[in-house]
Amino acid sequence: MPRRLSGFKPTGHLHLGNLLGAVRPAIEEDSVILIADLHALTVTHDPARVRGLTRELATLLLAAGAEPDRAPCYVQSHVPEHTELHYLLECATSYGEAHRMIQFKEQAATQEQVRLSLLTYPTLMAADILLHDVEEVPVGADQTQHVELARDVAVRFNNRYGPTFTVPKAVNPSFGGRIRNLSDPAGKMGKTNDREAGVLFLLDPPEVLRQKIMRAVTDTVGEVRYDPQGQPGVANLLEILAGCVGDSPSTLAGLFRSYGELKEVVADSVVATLRPIQARYADLAAEPGAVEGILRDGARRARSQTRAVVRRARDRLGLLPGTGAE
Ligand code: AMP
Repeated sequence: MPRRLSGFKPTGHLHLGNLLGAVRPAIEEDSVILIADLHALTVTHDPARVRGLTRELATLLLAAGAEPDRAPCYVQSHVPEHTELHYLLECATSYGEAHRMIQFKEQAATQEQVRLSLLTYPTLMAADILLHDVEEVPVGADQTQHVELARDVAVRFNNRYGPTFTVPKAVNPSFGGRIRNLSDPAGKMGKTNDREAGVLFLLDPPEVLRQKIMRAVTDTVGEVRYDPQGQPGVANLLEILAGCVGDSPSTLAGLFRSYGELKEVVADSVVATLRPIQARYADLAAEPGAVEGILRDGARRARSQTRAVVRRARDRLGLLPGTGAE
């Protein structure tokens, strides 16, 4: 049974920060990998874009090494137990709890029409987690409050109705680093803008990756040292290199005499890391029917677990057996 769960929302193209910080650790740890398409519907969305990004994300995860027959990897909306448990958990969550979520307040402030699903999104996320009986959810600071909500709801449900859910906790991702934006090392590499010069997208062609890395912002110190506070741009390049070649950033710092030399080697390593993933992606994308088959099969396998958990929850809540997920 996987002990961890990682979710990816199809709201942008995957980048190197996602690969090093979340995709690779999830595959190496045999975590549950969820392509969280329902979460992409909580804000104004373009249906064709969500569909395209869901396909791209799923294909990239498979290309990066996810194997649905080894650990669950599937599209959330293909497994109806997510929405069923979502409702059941809403009956164990208070309005005040949902309304207190910092991310809700921040995102709602930027929307003209706030979707109800934006408010209840943490309860859907709790369902995602509790459906798999996982103990740990590796998340960044922005998602910790949501995992704590899942934990509170699980504990409350178990106390009120009897042991039903494994109680999860948020843990730090196993990859310590946070990859920064190459053009602005004060901020993290994120998937907000498709044409971001400081973001290394996994499907960028080699010459684009190289160009972005050669133009990365550094500083005027002129010495290659690993000093994330004093030299964040150079430290970021060293962390990217460390993530690609599997060494420590401070050891790697000693190998370079100039920023130009460092950038050349980072570019070579990033291109070499992404080349096999891009090649597998191209093969898989050429056969969309086969990818859909893998995803359907992944969802089918995952349902033996998710059905059992929903059955348990329904039973504890007092619903009559013999209908719905039964
Ligand atoms: P997001 O793209 O923000 O939905 O994030 C998906 C996962 O990728 C998160 O759980 C993070 O752990 C990871 N991640 C996102 N951006 C970075 C980054 N710049 N550096 C390291 N990990 C990241």
